[in-house]
Amino acid sequence: MKLLEVNNLNTSFSIGVGTVQAVRGISFHVDQGESVGIVGESGSGKSVTMLSVMGLLPNYAAITADSIRFDGREMTQLSPRELRAMHGSEIGMIFQDPMTSLNPLFTVESQLTEPLRIHRNMRKAQARARALELLRQVEIPNPEARLKQYPHELSGGLRQRVMIAIAVACGPKMVIADEPTTALDVTIQAQILDLLNHLKQTTQTSIIMITHDLGVIASMCSRILVMYGGTICEEGTAREIFYAPKHPYTWGLLNSIPRINGDPEEKLIPIKGTPPDMLMPPKGCPFAPRCRYCMPVCREYMPPRTVLSDTHAVSCHLMHPKAPKVAREV
Ligand code: SF4
Repeated sequence: MKLLEVNNLNTSFSIGVGTVQAVRGISFHVDQGESVGIVGESGSGKSVTMLSVMGLLPNYAAITADSIRFDGREMTQLSPRELRAMHGSEIGMIFQDPMTSLNPLFTVESQLTEPLRIHRNMRKAQARARALELLRQVEIPNPEARLKQYPHELSGGLRQRVMIAIAVACGPKMVIADEPTTALDVTIQAQILDLLNHLKQTTQTSIIMITHDLGVIASMCSRILVMYGGTICEEGTAREIFYAPKHPYTWGLLNSIPRINGDPEEKLIPIKGTPPDMLMPPKGCPFAPRCRYCMPVCREYMPPRTVLSDTHAVSCHLMHPKAPKVAREV
C-alpha cells in the first residue's frame, strides 16, 4: 500500500540572475514499510525533492505538484500549521550534520522530550522515561548521563544516534534520512546503517535514504531512484539498478564505486564533466554534455520514460528500438 505518492513535482528558486529549476516534473511513490534510496550527485535535486514534499523550503521557492499524498491526505492542501504537526509526529527527518541540526544551547533531554510533549502530550516524567527508552533503542551507552549532556559533549556518531532517536521519538510512519552517514567515519557509518536497518525491521517505518553514494543504499534499500539534473533518470529495485542498469549515468555511478571482489589494480572510472547549470538546464537530456553515447536527438529532446518492468523504468533515448545497441563497460 502506498504511503507517499508524489505526482509531477516541480521546484524552482528565483534568484537575482534567473530561476534555478531544481526539480523538474518528477513522480514517485513509497510503500508502507518500504525503504527507498534517492541517489545522485550534489545538485541533482534529491534533497530539494524531499524538502519540497515536507514544505521545508524558504518562501522564494516555487513548488507545484499535481498531488503529494501522504497516508491518504493531500499535503498540498494542508495549512502550515497542519504541516508542522505532521513533521516529527508522522514524518521524521535525519539530516547530514547533527551538529548543525541539534540546538547547541539545549541538552539532549530537552531536545528529545520536546516532540513527545508537543505531539504526544506527554508529561515531563513520562517524556523523560520515553527519552531514556529511545536512547537505549539507538544503543547509546549510559543514557541517564547522556540526557544531561549538550550536543558538543558528544562524538559525531553519538550525535547522529541522538538525531535518529529524535526522528523516531513519536513513532513516525516515514523517516527521511538525508545523507545521514556522510559526516561520519567509515566504521561509525556502518553502525548507523545497521541501526537504521534494525529500526526499519522492528518498527515497520518507511525510510527514504538520500545519498550520493550507491554503496550506502546497497545494504538497506529495496528500491532506488537515480536522479540527475532535477529529473529521475532511472528507477528500479536494488537488484535491477545494481545488476541490470540501463542508463549511462547509472553505469557511471556504478563504475565509480570500488567493488569488494574487484581487481586491486583496477582503477575507478570517474564521470567526466560537471552537473548541468540548473539556471539554464540543457534543452534535451540533462546528461547529454557528459554522456559518451550522446546522439543528436539527445541534445534536442528530453528522453521519454521507458517502462521495462513493473518496477524498472529509464529515461534514455538508447531505449528507442532504432537506437544503437550499447552495453555498460566495466
Ligand atoms: Fe546519453 Fe542520450 Fe541516454 Fe541522455 S538520452 S543518457 S545523452 S544516450
